Amino acid sequence: MRVPFLDLKAPYLELREELDAAYRRVMESGWYVLGPEVEAFEAEFAAYCETRHCIGVGNGLDALYLSLLAMGIGAGDEVIVPSNTYIATWLAVSYAGARPVPVEPDPETCNLDPDRVEEAVTPRTRAIIAVHLYGQPAEMERLKAIADRHGLRLLEDAAQAHGARFRGRRVGGLGDAAGFSFYPGKNLGALGDGGAITTNDDQLARKIRILRNYGSEKKYYHQVQGVNSRLDELHAALLRVKLGRLDEWNTRRVALAGYYLSQLPEVGPALPKVAGEMEPVWHLFVLRSRQRDLYLQELAKAGVGTLVHYPIPPHRQEAYAPLGINEGRLPIAEQLAKEVFSIPLGPHLSVQDAALVVDAIRRTAESLEGAKSSI
Ligand SMILES: *Cc1c(COP(=O)(O)O)cnc(C)c1O
Repeated sequence: MRVPFLDLKAPYLELREELDAAYRRVMESGWYVLGPEVEAFEAEFAAYCETRHCIGVGNGLDALYLSLLAMGIGAGDEVIVPSNTYIATWLAVSYAGARPVPVEPDPETCNLDPDRVEEAVTPRTRAIIAVHLYGQPAEMERLKAIADRHGLRLLEDAAQAHGARFRGRRVGGLGDAAGFSFYPGKNLGALGDGGAITTNDDQLARKIRILRNYGSEKKYYHQVQGVNSRLDELHAALLRVKLGRLDEWNTRRVALAGYYLSQLPEVGPALPKVAGEMEPVWHLFVLRSRQRDLYLQELAKAGVGTLVHYPIPPHRQEAYAPLGINEGRLPIAEQLAKEVFSIPLGPHLSVQDAALVVDAIRRTAESLEGAKSSI
């Protein structure tokens, strides 16, 4: 592969000395769960997200699930989720015992469409989960207005958007709480699983802190039936190093996205759209084409790695067959699943490699145009 889709080793090589030092510090401390590294990371990530609190947990799914639990959401409740998202958003709702109610995205931004959200509110609705998909913030102000009007909680799924801004404000503090993932491939990635919740709500923060640690605030005293979902000291120490580079790495992503947006051919696949006042961090660069399979094939031939985010929307997964949402009920999500594909974009992708990607797409687009005009 000449241009791999993702290079997870490059960030390690760039920060090798600092990461190795952090690793040694934790190893030699003899303290591995809920200690000074997690506390320091929580304070630093809260400051980064401009929120009062950050609570480290085991992964992004738990970050969302524990937020819902702390909000008191459970059996009999409905939670509005995007129809076009990674399945974890839905699973968090199901885990809590509530019912995910999908709402279609704006086909331009692929993010939750506020107009449709209002139509989906019922007397059972308790919360909205807004996903900042591909690294672009959702329409948080309009969603907040809807949530306030109906007395709903607003939870951000910020797993793809560490550092993104909406009207100058960081994601993570735009709703009642936000769930982050530090899965290795995310913009801020651990060297294994990890996650966090950010919030400005003191009560929610306290509840989540208790829930993540067996329902306990004081060792061996358990006030609720909590879970074990804790960020490890080791991951926290490594994340602290990487957090110091996050803005620089996001800036490199923005520059590469700018390159793609200016260089990709107009006659080719549809380019991603950035809504006004959004500052995305380009977790993914997602193109759309009815000839997707041909593009995937030609890019593979040129040695360029691609992925499809995502080939099957949650409602069409076997796991959600019990909801009985038939094919055709969520046509935008289904259409996107047929047309989207992601090309390489990361802080360690060189402009030469990006140029190779552009070339392969241009050649494919031109051959398609040629075939059209010769008919
Ligand atoms: C990655 C991701 C998650 C889940 O994070 P994990 O750490 O893998 O559990 C949730 N939502 C979205 C949108 C994601 O991309």
